[in-house]
Amino acid sequence: MTLKTTPSQRIGLYPGTFDPITKGHIDIIRRAVKLFDVLIIGVAINEDKGPLFSLAERVAMVEAEMAHIECAAIIRVVPMDGLLMKFAEDHGAQCIVRGLRAVADFEYEFQMVAMNQKLNSEIETVFFMAAPHYQAIASRLVKEICRLGGEVKDFVPADVKTALLEKLRAK
Ligand code: ADP
Repeated sequence: MTLKTTPSQRIGLYPGTFDPITKGHIDIIRRAVKLFDVLIIGVAINEDKGPLFSLAERVAMVEAEMAHIECAAIIRVVPMDGLLMKFAEDHGAQCIVRGLRAVADFEYEFQMVAMNQKLNSEIETVFFMAAPHYQAIASRLVKEICRLGGEVKDFVPADVKTALLEKLRAK
């Protein structure tokens, strides 16, 4: 699906697996919407990462959380497949948004930016430093904690916690 936009619109693309969406992701979105007219949240298929939730479930969860965000920007949640830069071009995004947690994220992101710049030097990547209280949150750890019976309410919204518990019970 290609998004119809006017040429003057500032369009950002926030890509991720969102398996599931966490309070850390939501914090980045709340801050990123201030920079754009349209923020596209690209939910990556990422089958090779063996996601717990299906693509449709992840998209639905992100969409449900976006209903709580009040902002002037338009937020669109779009399933994403293939090359990130191609997806950004097809959707008219001038900018990729990423979140940076501790040093572990930096190495990977640094390399990605270098490669993406080679593919299209017109598209910039902007990074938001993780908020100190969300710094430690990672979808992978949230799933692990929940699987082991730990409390995850500080890390994910209530609906996501319910979905996690149901999904893990069904496994
Ligand atoms: P990916 O598979 O692209 O890493 P994720 O859903 O894990 O997908 O993350 C998407 C983006 O959100 C990445 O830029 C990641 O660094 C960022 N992110 C994830 N968790 C947090 C957090 N707690 N605080 C800030 N940024 C985060």
